[in-house]
Amino acid sequence: MALTIKRPNGTEDVTPKNIHKWLTVERIVKETASGYGFKEIRIPTFENTELFQRSVGETTDVVQKEMYSVIAKETKFTLRPEGTAGTIRCMMQNGLLNEAMPQKVFYVLSCFRHERPQAGRLREFHQFGVEMAGSALPSADADVISMAYDIINNLGISNVELKINSIGCPHCRAEYHKALKAYFENKKDELCETCLSRLEKNPMRILDCKSPICSDIAKDAPLILDYLCDECSDHFEKLKSYLDNLDIKYTVDPKIVRGLDYYTKTVFEFVTTDIGAQGTVCGGGRYDGLIEQLGGQHTPALGFAMGLERLILTMENQGISFEDNTGCSLYIAPMDETVIPFAMKLAKSLRDEGFWVEYDTVGRGLKAQMKYSDKLGAAFTIVLGDNEVNSKTAKLKNMKTGEQLDIKLDDTFVQNFSNIAISDMFDDVIDNI
Ligand code: ATP
Ligand code: MG
Repeated sequence: MALTIKRPNGTEDVTPKNIHKWLTVERIVKETASGYGFKEIRIPTFENTELFQRSVGETTDVVQKEMYSVIAKETKFTLRPEGTAGTIRCMMQNGLLNEAMPQKVFYVLSCFRHERPQAGRLREFHQFGVEMAGSALPSADADVISMAYDIINNLGISNVELKINSIGCPHCRAEYHKALKAYFENKKDELCETCLSRLEKNPMRILDCKSPICSDIAKDAPLILDYLCDECSDHFEKLKSYLDNLDIKYTVDPKIVRGLDYYTKTVFEFVTTDIGAQGTVCGGGRYDGLIEQLGGQHTPALGFAMGLERLILTMENQGISFEDNTGCSLYIAPMDETVIPFAMKLAKSLRDEGFWVEYDTVGRGLKAQMKYSDKLGAAFTIVLGDNEVNSKTAKLKNMKTGEQLDIKLDDTFVQNFSNIAISDMFDDVIDNI
């Protein structure tokens, strides 16, 4: 009996039919990030488990429930559940933080979290993320948020709301934790087991619990915004004025705490209602303590990550078209096997110039070849027989207009074909104006 192996739950395949969507999004995010001076960074798919425990945080859902970890030769490794920890580890290890500040990097990578798969929530998903290290000023927050805002606009996405909040610094959070503890202490009996353990260690995490009962209790909890120290409050006010200055619309949502422990001061999310319940397409914030926590010098930093699947889903649902401008330029149809060597060389001469050229490699008859060239959307075809090879002349057929031109198959061929193909493309552009 044949065993059919399917892809694991919560993973997705991208086939050639869909790859243009990914390439469109990746091109736009990278170009926008370059305009802001961010350079690409690449990091390993797995890291020492301790890295995530120490950065993402022991009491977060990600670390407590969602990590894919293995013990290999007695060392514990984890598939990265997010990109910030590995990126900061990489910047530290490679001395980037000793160079001129700010250091600005971006990445496109896969992340792994053991969650319940649903639309917009996968076990392997992809993030575009950025990290900026070395500035404590709110102008840096505005710059990073402005880049996320531009990316969403450049993708053509609308109907996205920017929500911002400040979750303070360790200094003001101490007071806030006390208030939270007092509040949840009273409702201890109703909290889920995980939140009960969070009550002592990190009561703010209860605000991020996905259990309906806990989130219901959390509704009336004290708000961090009422506990900010002067410095954090000033930082938040300045950020808001910079966003106003850039005409970036936002709402202050005092409930946003984010799912990872390393955040301080500014946190933000971009949320759409067009893709169902998992509508957060971008999440980020400041993490001034992280680098020190990982053993480096105190270095303020911030960043964000966007879920690429959610961005693509939003674009699909909003009817945004993706670039797909790779078409087959020429299909060469050999009438029999003897002319195949000639067809191969003809194809190579154009491929060397960057054209997509095909000839028959599966032994189809002429009629079937023409059907197949239609399927490829070939702009031009040439039928090649002994006559054509001997006279070094063939008919070049424009598949859209049906027009046929004599074309020499000698050393003028590449230049002539290029001229014809380019003027044909130009006609297309004019037709579309
Ligand atoms: P959520 O509240 O949706 O679980 P999160 O706070 O866990 O999100 P982050 O860790 O901030 O998410 O990740 C940044 C972005 O990555 C999210 O805004 C989202 O777009 C995307 N993302 C996170 N988890 C998943 C997932 N399991 N599947 C698909 N995309 C995801
Ligand atoms: Mg999550």
